[in-house]
Amino acid sequence: AVGCLLAVTVVCGTIALILSVVGVKDVYLPPSTKYGLVLDAGSSHTTLYVYQWPAGKENGTGIGGVLTGIVPGPGISSYADDPAGAGASLRACLDTAMTLIPAKQQRETPAYLGATAGMRLLREQNSTKADLVFAEVSRTIRQYPVAFQGAQILTGNEEGSFGWITINYLLETLVKFSFAGKWIQPQAAEVLGALDLGGASTQITFQPRGTVEDNSTQVLFRLYGANYSVYTHSYLCYGRDQALKRLLAVLREENPSLQLSHPCYPRGYEENVTAAALYASPCVPAPAAQDSQQVLTVRGTGAPAECRRAVRKLFNFTACGANRTCGFNGVYQPPAHGQFFAFSGFYYTFHFLNLTGGQPLSTTNATAWAFCTKSWTELQASFPQERPSRLRDYCSSASFILTLLHEGYKFDEQSWSNIHFRQQAANTDIGWALGYMLNLTSMIPAEAPEQVKGQQC
Ligand code: AMP
Repeated sequence: AVGCLLAVTVVCGTIALILSVVGVKDVYLPPSTKYGLVLDAGSSHTTLYVYQWPAGKENGTGIGGVLTGIVPGPGISSYADDPAGAGASLRACLDTAMTLIPAKQQRETPAYLGATAGMRLLREQNSTKADLVFAEVSRTIRQYPVAFQGAQILTGNEEGSFGWITINYLLETLVKFSFAGKWIQPQAAEVLGALDLGGASTQITFQPRGTVEDNSTQVLFRLYGANYSVYTHSYLCYGRDQALKRLLAVLREENPSLQLSHPCYPRGYEENVTAAALYASPCVPAPAAQDSQQVLTVRGTGAPAECRRAVRKLFNFTACGANRTCGFNGVYQPPAHGQFFAFSGFYYTFHFLNLTGGQPLSTTNATAWAFCTKSWTELQASFPQERPSRLRDYCSSASFILTLLHEGYKFDEQSWSNIHFRQQAANTDIGWALGYMLNLTSMIPAEAPEQVKGQQC
């Protein structure tokens, strides 16, 4: 596949190559290659994806990622008070993309910007500011010679659905080009479910065994001649960053003093947090009579049992009662069915903890537990390269993920083995971006592509 030729992740502006460059010198791109560009404006940062595919093969498979560019700095929603800064932040990455796409093809290259929960939250807080940020990022993209198709905030259902399409497209579970030169519906391969943990929301999407009994969580697709009824739900404020902020607020609520013990932070870790920063998000409602100038001193205690207890308070497990078809917070969810790919935040945390190798739930729990008991001194000595804020958060993240997957989505010891923690499939990053582009460019037809005539060699 063309997508396998080159897989590069760059931090735009710094020209740092994070992933391997496979045989760069030998890369040959046929002139009939087409390109598409998607900016994934997430809550914590923006990522630019450049996809390529052989011209004339739009209706089949074989689209791959050629560049994953990480825009330096925070997500565009953080530029609410500096919208021009949001636009400017994209320049280095767009410049890099332009070096990859041949000049004569740039004007026909479709470019999209999709924003997710960070912008959903900003729009909820202040829609004028959200509009200004969008106007500025659009203005910047329009300055590049690409076919800009517009900027959009995706709904939670779209975010989940496009992630599901990406995985199933890349793994060819929807349609496959057979050796006999025919497009076939793979019989044996069941479609895969998608578990996505972003910074501000988390999505669960899968094809249940039975019917989806709640219309607001159902998506219907007709892809390559087959119908799919898929369950999807996005939990806003259950992304990693927002969940961890909410955890701090829960601890503060339990102990409203200026000295806060944090059971998920490592022993020996200490930091100051202003009340203003803690309660800045709509996911973290401030208590009445809150003095935003207050400075809290947060001290880690590295106590895993306490940590799990506090994390459970982020979920309402009683709202579902005895109802089996329920996730948490009273949200309808049919029993999880089939194999799942868990990506983004799920992958980052479990990759760091060496838990992406198919370990059973009991081992995963034990590993997370042991990690949570390590002191700050020990952690810093063992992982000197790791960003301190990430190192501080891995115990909280792992505890949150385990609670979400086990008690929230109800994966048990047995079905745990159906979850595969992955960042890529077919050499391409997994996320909603590819599915979004495939949909907007109508590259997945409703009916199966016509049979390809046999070629004479
Ligand atoms: P994203 O999929 O980029 O929206 O990130 C999802 C969550 O993972 C966010 O909370 C990010 O802060 C966090 N995150 C992003 N990259 C990494 C990484 N390399 N290691 C650990 N956490 C990460």
